[in-house]
Amino acid sequence: MAQIIDGKKISAEVKAGVAAEVAALKEKGVSVGLAVVIVGNNPASRVYVNNKKKACAACGIDSYEYALPEETTEEELLRLIDQLNHDSKVNGILVQLPVPKQIDDHKIIAAISPLKDVDAFTEGNVGKIMIGEYNFLPCTPAGCMDLIDSTGVSVDGKNCVVIGRSNIVGKPMAMLLLHRNGTVTICHSHTKNLREICSQADILVAAVGKAGFVTADMVKEGAVVIDVGMNRNAEGKLCGDVDFEAVEKKAGYITPVPGGVGPMTIATLMRNTLTAAKVQNDLLG
Ligand code: NAP
Repeated sequence: MAQIIDGKKISAEVKAGVAAEVAALKEKGVSVGLAVVIVGNNPASRVYVNNKKKACAACGIDSYEYALPEETTEEELLRLIDQLNHDSKVNGILVQLPVPKQIDDHKIIAAISPLKDVDAFTEGNVGKIMIGEYNFLPCTPAGCMDLIDSTGVSVDGKNCVVIGRSNIVGKPMAMLLLHRNGTVTICHSHTKNLREICSQADILVAAVGKAGFVTADMVKEGAVVIDVGMNRNAEGKLCGDVDFEAVEKKAGYITPVPGGVGPMTIATLMRNTLTAAKVQNDLLG
């Protein structure tokens, strides 16, 4: 039976560390601020933004919410980003995706100052992740790495399989595992023999977006299984990409959904915002 990796507990530890550093910066007269921009009325986005604001409050980070109407134009959003880039109270800028279809999200991301890009989505920061020299780690993959590390299992030399190749999860996840000397395979919708490849993984990360996609026959006995998926099952209940009940019996370690990767993504965002404040105030050791 797998040990459950407790993302809530680990994220609370990360946030407590951030809160202590934020408090120490405040004593030196440096405040830390995150601007959270939400466009439109997507209910899931609203939940994510509220969770991020709550985490800011818990860490002593000032949060500034900009809730814009659904019909906001690209020009209006670009103007706001420019204003935030020049606002010294704002150390990090997060634009909650997806944005309405009249807005090109690539243009919006490109407009964010790389120094305030706490999601690590801009081209420059993505490039830095490739070469392994970065200030900001992409939030979800970095959170996954912390969860893997919490097991005590070393990535070095292990077979690591990432299912999914999105720019925000799959690709950077594979890169972080590679930087730790994992032997990494990235699977996607064109992959042949997916079951066979996954069943050889010592570390399996699922970022597909399909409930129950990873079944027990795809998992190696004793593997570390990280479930990034956030889906709704037929009953409308939040669930991951992994068939938790079956895989739990076979894996060595497994993250639950909810309470696994989700809280770690937010904790990493807090850590990145703190790093941004340090970089902007020349305080990075
Ligand atoms: P995405 O952009 O939709 O990417 C999904 C990936 O899964 C794609 O690369 C796709 O392959 C692959 N895929 C789809 N069907 C497949 C199949 N049958 N076999 C193999 N691969 C398949 O999604 P994402 O943004 O990476 O997110 C993935 C999941 O993580 C979603 O449930 C999302 O909600 C969740 N998520 C959670 C957090 C968190 O904090 N917990 C953060 C971000 C995302 P192709 O490239 O070939 O299409």
